[in-house]
Amino acid sequence: MEKLIITAAITGSRMTRDVAPYIPITPDEIAQSAIECWDAGAAIVHIHVRDPKTGLGTQSLDVFRQVVEPLRERTDLLLCLTTSGIPGRNLAIEERLKPLELDPELASFDAGSINLGGSAFVNTPEFLEAAAKSMKEKGVKPELEIFDVGMMVTCLRMRDQEYLEEPLHFQFVLGTPWGSPATPKSFLHLYEHLPEDATWSIIGIGKGHLPMAMMGLILGGHIRVGMEDNIYYERGVLAKSNAEFVERIVRIAKEYGRETATPREAREILGLREQ
Ligand code: ZN
Repeated sequence: MEKLIITAAITGSRMTRDVAPYIPITPDEIAQSAIECWDAGAAIVHIHVRDPKTGLGTQSLDVFRQVVEPLRERTDLLLCLTTSGIPGRNLAIEERLKPLELDPELASFDAGSINLGGSAFVNTPEFLEAAAKSMKEKGVKPELEIFDVGMMVTCLRMRDQEYLEEPLHFQFVLGTPWGSPATPKSFLHLYEHLPEDATWSIIGIGKGHLPMAMMGLILGGHIRVGMEDNIYYERGVLAKSNAEFVERIVRIAKEYGRETATPREAREILGLREQ
């Protein structure tokens, strides 16, 4: 089976220290946590950054740079920068696409709108077309985030319309309270829609974290873990670092007989340009 790409999602945009006391917030903390994940075996880090005043997500290029630069200097991690801004606050399209200026290997592409908390995370066709065009121009691979089957259909249509280029790379997000549940049956329904040459990774939110990771492991997909998606290492026990989640997947994968991909190998698996 193909080597396993582990992505670490370091912080997200919404969780603050009052609910997640160990979550990285400052650029230094985010970079440090990403380096620990790289040491533990992650090949990709998915990066959001936080506004120093509010502690919530920001698309400020300057703050992104404070994380991206040390990671470029000190690691060979592949970077997947977010274009979601703050889900529910629905920032302007140009603001959401700002991080593409830093030349990441990948950027998130949320393939449709969905309720989140008390609001809606809006990804209009206008946003999706602008994001796809901009990523294509800059040679950034879209990581197609899929919360339900309609988003899968959207991506396949955008491929047919040549907004998205094959091979596609999907990131399935299961277990938000508003999208596909984190169950094997729900995942298999999405899985059936995958084009043959696509690559994919999976995220289980909250208590779906480990079960969905196992679906990725056994079906030949890849796995994302980290505090953006889940803050508990086990029931009632907070994870103290993102690296703990990466270490656990590396251990399980090894026992299962699946090797972990280095960033260089991940680059090849995903068909990314050489550095
Ligand atoms: Zn994210």
